[in-house]
Amino acid sequence: MLYRKMGKTNEEVSILGFGCMRFPTKDGKIDEVKATEMVRYAIDNGVNYIDTAYPYHNGESEPVVGEILKGGYREKVKLATKLPTWLITSREDMDKYFNEQLERLQTNYIDFYLIHNLNKESYRNAKENGLFEFIDKIKEEKKARYVGFSFHDTIDVYKEIIDDYDWDFTQIQYNYIDEEYQAGTEGLLYAASKDLGIIIMEPLRGGALVNNVSKKIKDIIEKSNVQKNAAGWAFKFLYNREEISVVLSGMSTIEQIIDNLKIADSEGIKNSMTEEEETVINQLKDEFKSKIKVNCTGCKYCVPCPLGVSIPTCFELLNNSSMFGNVDTIKENYYSYLESEKSHASICVECGACEEKCPQHIDIRNKLKEVCSVFEA
Ligand code: SF4
Ligand code: SF4
Repeated sequence: MLYRKMGKTNEEVSILGFGCMRFPTKDGKIDEVKATEMVRYAIDNGVNYIDTAYPYHNGESEPVVGEILKGGYREKVKLATKLPTWLITSREDMDKYFNEQLERLQTNYIDFYLIHNLNKESYRNAKENGLFEFIDKIKEEKKARYVGFSFHDTIDVYKEIIDDYDWDFTQIQYNYIDEEYQAGTEGLLYAASKDLGIIIMEPLRGGALVNNVSKKIKDIIEKSNVQKNAAGWAFKFLYNREEISVVLSGMSTIEQIIDNLKIADSEGIKNSMTEEEETVINQLKDEFKSKIKVNCTGCKYCVPCPLGVSIPTCFELLNNSSMFGNVDTIKENYYSYLESEKSHASICVECGACEEKCPQHIDIRNKLKEVCSVFEA
C-alpha cells in the first residue's frame, strides 16, 4: 500500500480508503460477518482510512464499524465520520449527534470529522446554528483531530466555503468524467493551493464507469496496448494527481477489495501517467461524454423555477441515463432523485423565465419535454 500526506495535517493516509456505505447485506441488514472480514482484510493489507457517516445503511453503518474496529483495529486506522447537516436545527443538535456518533463507533475521538454534504443552503443553516463554535469546541476537547467537509454544489460555493474557515481537509466527487462538475479540477487545485487534504468520493461514479458499460467502452479498454480493467483506468486517473490524498471506494465484496488493493499497488504513483495512458483515458471520457444530451453545467442560475421544477437535476438524470444506459433504474427512482415531491419536469408551464437566466442558452422547455418522455411516460 502506498501512503500520502493528508495536506496540512501531515497525517500519512493510505491512497485507498474504505467507504462503509455499501456493505453486503443479509435479510435487509448489514451482513456483519462478511463486513468484518472485508474491512479487517483491507486494514491487514494496509488500508488505514475508514469512512462512514450517520445515515449510511439507515444508521447501521456506524455501529457496525464500531464493532469491526474492536480488537486493536481502531488504533490502526484513521476513522472518519460526518455530521448529518440536514438534521441540524440548533447548536445543541450538533453536540447531540456528535456524542451519539462517538457512542455508536465505540471511540473517544474521530480522526477526520466531516460536515456532511455541504451546499449553499446546508452551509448557511449550519453556520446560523453555530457550526464554527461547535468545530472549535470538539477540536479543543480533542474529540475530533481534524475537521473538514464533504461537498455537492457549484465551484463558486466551494471556494466560498473553503475561504470561510480554517478547514483541515475536504471531500469532493471527482473522476475522469466529472472534471468540470461541482468542485471539479478547478476546486481540486484550489483546495490544494490552501494545503487542504483532499479525499475523493465517487471514483467510479457509483459504478457507472465499470458496470454494464457499452461495447465501445469495452473496445477502447480491450484494444489498448496498456492492460487495465475499467476500474484500473478510473483509479489511474485519480492516483496520478498529486493533489489527492485518499480515494474512497465503497466496497461490497472481498473480490472488489482484492482488485482495488492490486490497482492501488500498480497505479498509485503520483504523476506517473504515460502519454499512451492519457490517450486511453481521453478516449473513455470522450465516449461517455458523446452521449450527453443537454449541455447543462449544473450552475443552478435557472432556479428557483416559479413552479418548482428541479431543472438541473432533471438534466443530470437525462444525461446520466444516456451516458450509462441505465434508463430503467433512473426511471424507477426518478421522483426520489428530485429535490422535492412536486419538482418533476412535467409541471413546467413553459413560461420561459429560466431560459433567460441560463448562461449555456439551453432550450430548457424543450429539453424538459424530453425528460418527461424518457422518465414520466
Ligand atoms: S419554463 Fe418551465 S421550468 Fe422554466 S421557469 Fe418556467 S415553469 Fe419553470
Ligand atoms: S439549465 Fe442552464 S442555468 Fe440551469 S443549471 Fe443548467 S446550465 Fe445552469
